[in-house]
Amino acid sequence: MKALLIVDMQNDFMPGGALAVPKGDALLPIINSLMDDFTLIVASQDTHTHDHTSFVVNGGTWPVHCVKDTQGYELASSLYKAKINAIFPKGQDKKIDSYSAFFDNEHLQATGLGDFFKAREVTDLYLVGVATEYCVLFSALDALQLGFNVFIIADACAGIDIQPGDSLRALEQIQSQGGHVISSCQALLR
Ligand SMILES: [Zn+2]
Repeated sequence: MKALLIVDMQNDFMPGGALAVPKGDALLPIINSLMDDFTLIVASQDTHTHDHTSFVVNGGTWPVHCVKDTQGYELASSLYKAKINAIFPKGQDKKIDSYSAFFDNEHLQATGLGDFFKAREVTDLYLVGVATEYCVLFSALDALQLGFNVFIIADACAGIDIQPGDSLRALEQIQSQGGHVISSCQALLR
């Protein structure tokens, strides 16, 4: 059984958003077309309170983003939401950030996503979304550790690249841990 995991395709991560991933919106038509090929589709949603530790104003790294019940928190409007079977929030604990859709950054709490997939006998996990070198990377590494076959659909992911090449290095790291980096065309042919 295969499943599609759509990572953090929220307004705040799209161009014009609070923590924009350049070209994040260019992924939307690709992701929407991939969705036709999956019967099990899950989206993760970065979900913070205004006092979250990851925000610069609270001593963290990032601008205020994905605060629950704001427009920026919502999934991108042109994402084909009707086909999404489940949405898993992450980053709700104000003291610990959560890049991965499976665990917080200290691996203290699981979101339940791993059990969700295992209960549905998912073996092959296809990842798309943003940002390649943060939430996609850490989700992929956790998925590999949980024993899933992991396929990153590279043209359906986008990074921030604070340092040039960060996204590329993330893909290499996923491959070095046993993940596969493929294109959307290859995904549709599988
Ligand atoms: Zn966040």
